[in-house]
Amino acid sequence: MPPLPKTDVVVIGGGPGGTATAIRCAQHGLHVTLIEGAELSQSLTSETLHPEIEPLLQTLGVRDSVLAAGFPRCPGRWIALQGERQFHHFGEDSHGPKLGFQVKRSHFDTLLLEQAKALGVNILQPCRAIEPLVSQGQIQGLITTWGGIEATYVVDATGRCQWLARKLKLITTPYSPPLHVEYGYVMGHCSEQEYSPLIASAPGGWVCVAKVQPLRYQWTRLKWAEHSNASWHPPNLAHLWPGDPPHTVEVTWRLVNPAAGPGYFLVGDAAAVLDPISSQGVLKAVASGMMAAHLINKQFQGGQLQPSPAARYSTWLRTNFYQDLLHLQRFYSPVLSEIATLANAQ
Ligand SMILES: Cc1cc2nc3c(=O)[nH]c(=O)nc-3n(C[C@H](O)[C@H](O)[C@H](O)COP(=O)(O)OP(=O)(O)OC[C@H]3O[C@@H](n4cnc5c(N)ncnc54)[C@H](O)[C@@H]3O)c2cc1C
Repeated sequence: MPPLPKTDVVVIGGGPGGTATAIRCAQHGLHVTLIEGAELSQSLTSETLHPEIEPLLQTLGVRDSVLAAGFPRCPGRWIALQGERQFHHFGEDSHGPKLGFQVKRSHFDTLLLEQAKALGVNILQPCRAIEPLVSQGQIQGLITTWGGIEATYVVDATGRCQWLARKLKLITTPYSPPLHVEYGYVMGHCSEQEYSPLIASAPGGWVCVAKVQPLRYQWTRLKWAEHSNASWHPPNLAHLWPGDPPHTVEVTWRLVNPAAGPGYFLVGDAAAVLDPISSQGVLKAVASGMMAAHLINKQFQGGQLQPSPAARYSTWLRTNFYQDLLHLQRFYSPVLSEIATLANAQ
């Protein structure tokens, strides 16, 4: 059999976690192959990117193209989980209020993928990971729909499906009852709804509504229990035209541990999932991809890291996850007893 093609790093998944890893490794001169299972970005959502992402986009070399894309900006979010709604600012610096981005994810992902391509990342698309190549407990590459690839490091950025964790039977601990979000669009004009999202309590959960383009609004509803009122939808959008049927995805809070090991790193949702209320999933995916790339680059430069890159990364990721979990639990504190009662009743 001919030898398998060999590369320094193979990244599975072309979302923000995967492209950030690939870009940072390529910027340090490593040979990187990125495989993406879908022909085009499958992401249907419009998402709010926290302003803290801007310096990371600058480092990745995509800040200018993201600004040029003209995504709407917003200074914070309205929250009405209990009582009157209040505006929560993202923060301020010497230039004024910090502004988040309201991005169409398929467009945002394409900008990152184009930057990876421009830096020489070998992109195979559509190409799916089928099996990891494991020898003596070390990941040494992948079998894909395009054939085998040998690699010094495999980075799993497959998102919520957590492909490698399932293949390696890693421990995935849930930190919430089973949670699902449903999301959809409506078209028309709603004068009271602006680009800053509004998060309000809804039967058995919350709903987040945001204007994402002129005359287009996205609603996202999280349910911590199945609710009998299946046809419920945001009252302030009731007069608008519905788009495609809504989509449902599972967003149970969970962490894979360890998030790195011999020859592999898990980044973004492939390592840890929280529900979308924090608006930080993309920021976390990019930050974890950049951290994994930093440790991989150090290793290639001959650095003798103690503790090992895998141990450092797992600790860093776990510590961040627990901090985010605390914030989320604080956010949910007005309704925690309702969640516990409903979860126990299931
Ligand atoms: C309804 C909803 C609303 C959200 N809103 C926000 C928000 O407002 N702000 C925010 O910051 N976050 C939000 N999030 C969270 C955010 O979408 C995720 O945290 C983010 O996409 C994680 O990025 P990722 O790169 O880890 O994974 P993904 O973006 O999921 O990318 C994974 C990629 O891997 C590919 N893949 C999967 N399996 C394979 C395989 N076997 N072989 C090859 N490729 C594969 C997939 O095709 C996909 O392109 C929301 C999530 C949901 C569900």
